[in-house]
Amino acid sequence: MDEVSVNEQANKPTGKLPGSARVVVIGGGAVGASVLYHLAERGWRDVVLLEKNELTSGSTWHAAGNCPNYVGSWTIMKIQSYSTSLYRKLGDLVDYPMNYHVTGAIRLAHSRQRMEEFRHVERMGRQMGIEFQEMSPAEMQEVYPFLETHDLYGGQWDLLDGDIDPAQLTQALAKGARDMGATVIRFCPVTGARRENGEWVLSTPQGDIRCEYVVNASGYRANEVGRMFGRDVPCISLAHQYLVTEGIPELAARDTKLPLLRDPDSSYYLRQEKDGLLLGPYEKGCRAHWTDASDPMPEDFSFQLYSDDLERLEWYIEDACARVPLLGTAGITRVVNGPIPYAPDGLPLIGQMPGVPNAFEACVFTFGIVQAGGAGKLLSEIIVEGESETDSWAVDPRRFTDHVTHDYAKAKAIETYSHEYAMHFPQIQWPAGRKAKTSPLYDTLAEAGAAFGSYGGWERADWFLRDGEEDRPADSYDRQHWFDAVGAECRHVAEHVGVLELTGFSRFLVKGPGATDWLRGLVTGGLPKVGRIGLVYFASEKGKILTEMTATRLGEDEFLMMTGAGAYWHDRDLLKFRLPADSSISITDVTASMATLLVTGPKAPALMAELTGEATGHEDFPWLTYRRMSIAGIEVTAIRVSFAGEAGWELHCDMGDIKPLYDAVWAAGTAHRIANFGMLALDSMRLEKGYRSWKADLTSDYTMFESGLGRWVNLGKDSFVGKAALQAEHQAGVTQGFVTLTLEDPGDGEPFGEAVYLSTVLIDGNAAGLVVSAGYGHRVGKSIAMAVVDSAMLAAGGAVSVDVLGRERAAALVEGDVLYDPDNSRMKV
Ligand SMILES: Cc1cc2nc3c(=O)[nH]c(=O)nc-3n(C[C@H](O)[C@H](O)[C@H](O)COP(=O)(O)OP(=O)(O)OC[C@H]3O[C@@H](n4cnc5c(N)ncnc54)[C@H](O)[C@@H]3O)c2cc1C
Repeated sequence: MDEVSVNEQANKPTGKLPGSARVVVIGGGAVGASVLYHLAERGWRDVVLLEKNELTSGSTWHAAGNCPNYVGSWTIMKIQSYSTSLYRKLGDLVDYPMNYHVTGAIRLAHSRQRMEEFRHVERMGRQMGIEFQEMSPAEMQEVYPFLETHDLYGGQWDLLDGDIDPAQLTQALAKGARDMGATVIRFCPVTGARRENGEWVLSTPQGDIRCEYVVNASGYRANEVGRMFGRDVPCISLAHQYLVTEGIPELAARDTKLPLLRDPDSSYYLRQEKDGLLLGPYEKGCRAHWTDASDPMPEDFSFQLYSDDLERLEWYIEDACARVPLLGTAGITRVVNGPIPYAPDGLPLIGQMPGVPNAFEACVFTFGIVQAGGAGKLLSEIIVEGESETDSWAVDPRRFTDHVTHDYAKAKAIETYSHEYAMHFPQIQWPAGRKAKTSPLYDTLAEAGAAFGSYGGWERADWFLRDGEEDRPADSYDRQHWFDAVGAECRHVAEHVGVLELTGFSRFLVKGPGATDWLRGLVTGGLPKVGRIGLVYFASEKGKILTEMTATRLGEDEFLMMTGAGAYWHDRDLLKFRLPADSSISITDVTASMATLLVTGPKAPALMAELTGEATGHEDFPWLTYRRMSIAGIEVTAIRVSFAGEAGWELHCDMGDIKPLYDAVWAAGTAHRIANFGMLALDSMRLEKGYRSWKADLTSDYTMFESGLGRWVNLGKDSFVGKAALQAEHQAGVTQGFVTLTLEDPGDGEPFGEAVYLSTVLIDGNAAGLVVSAGYGHRVGKSIAMAVVDSAMLAAGGAVSVDVLGRERAAALVEGDVLYDPDNSRMKV
């Protein structure tokens, strides 16, 4: 036995450090232990966990241990539901009994919108085999007799919610891993990392250990460990508190434990702890720690807490006492105020360490107890198989790019904490951390009335306020007040010409002998000819969609690869990690130095002719080609393409030239009734054209064929990543397919909104698939939803409908998936 207790051998490493291992996991909280367990379970037994102190000594030991299934994100619901099912059997699996009370939980709704959110999540859960049930106030009181329900709209029941002992969970996972051959060494901090001969060498006070792969699972110390790899992890430690009351006779008298109670509108959880109650609020005005030099993170904070700060919780305590008066009858015996790590969006980092080869992250967990199981599974899939079973973009560390500074991370973390239970309404962004990246055109657009949105940190106009309008989105899934303004922008683009700044495209110049052959082996289809542009897709080995890029072929072996603002680091890694070591191909990141205007609409050709003095008709300047041109003395690369589906050009120029370019376009455009339009209008128009959006309707949950991208797959090519899987799928036949639907208007007096991401598609009333993109098409006057549905159910026929927030709306299939100008004649004038 290589384990000794802390008391027996204070702060001495527990076991001899091996010279090498296949994987080293840094950090022995619930998450690190789960990563180790799942790697070992997958058959990788030469794996070592190094823990600075004792297992659980970070945030894990003091966690409340609540384990809900309910969550609004598909990826996180997968993670949490896997965890809860694993935890129910883990004790038996590894022979380590533990306290896991599956009590069920009630979630309270104070409003129609909250109930709609519950219904949406309930439908999502159903697709995953997880059961949630709507509850009336009377039903809630039946299972929770101490609850005041007079002012509630309703509630929801999470059958399999409960609480687990986090320390026992961690020990069980560590035991299971050890039993399978993994090694756990406590009191062995990692103090440095270096790359040697394609391996990682980690330093510890016990000496060095070499490894092929490394995982940063160091909880709130993620940034400290990240720095060893040259990585700035967006991790902010916030102080989260719960209080525990003394025993309450009414609870002591019960045979069963009370279910958990969550009041998301008031923002707290309340559960039974022994014979007392445990109350944990997510309060406004929370406190961040260790964020600057005046408050440095102590070298060791193991098993420690912050001082109590109950004043901040007063409102929440009073509110909870009014909801469950029994709570007010008992005194407080214990307050736990501990570090809870927050990423800017409150979701953990699980996956590739950005830009760092063979290094991974499983850190910054806000709900690390309930997520540990699923996170370990997910990361072990990524490490061992190179890809996860389901899309994991929601937790991919590369979703945060270079705009995420420490100040940004802090502002967003605090905002997210105070909105922990808030509803996320489509197209509404919270205000913290804005203006992270602006172009020189920002002020001009602001003066023109732009209401901005953040796209990979870049500020882009979402829509333009008309005279007297204010940008005050409603807390609602119903149509927002900008609906008419966005509609007017779309119609203007369709009749005249519009201009939109699209700065923030990620761009990589790929160049050098062999570039064409190398790219050909990566993309699923063909590459454009010299002088032309084309959409290219990258699939995983399993044929799932990794990304979509626009390739502009500048020369025989020279390409400008353009991709979305949010895909910046993801796509950079995708290209760079696949480049053979001895290659003479170079990949240059030219993202920050370039800007883009989209000029589009039926008057765009005339405007462009005037601006450039060149012929711009389709015969002279065909669709999907580019030219270098001069506009008002500014060098631009004009690409004839338009995501809006009208005649149009993307004008790419140096960042410094974007303002004079815009001014020149605007001045000449006045005669053509040029107008600004925004991203919301662009999204509406691309839906009408059937154009796709990365990480909405293009995700690695689906293969190329399932996503309806078969015409970008060339199975006749010699080889490309994913070919074998796609060939097998092609032969066997796809089991689900992509469809575009239009939705009937809701009934009179019913709230009117579009389908929400991941709404359920029904065929003859049976769940058949999920909505992956939705919005209103103003040019065609229809509510549109793109979805992936079961092919057999689709082939069998039947009435199609979409469940939008609990209301079933009849839907019609769109033939060919394109609602607007299906033969592209408008783009080719
Ligand atoms: C008051 C409170 C209540 C909470 N309640 C819940 C809840 O009900 N449900 C829930 O899911 N979550 C809850 N949480 C959050 C939960 O505690 C964390 O998300 C979870 O513990 C994170 O686990 P981890 O393994 O990622 O990190 P940690 O538990 O912090 O583990 C990281 C480990 O890494 C080690 N380490 C750091 N640096 C090094 C190094 N250089 N070398 C080696 N080892 C290193 C640390 O010593 C530590 O043991 C709560 C948090 C707080 C503060």
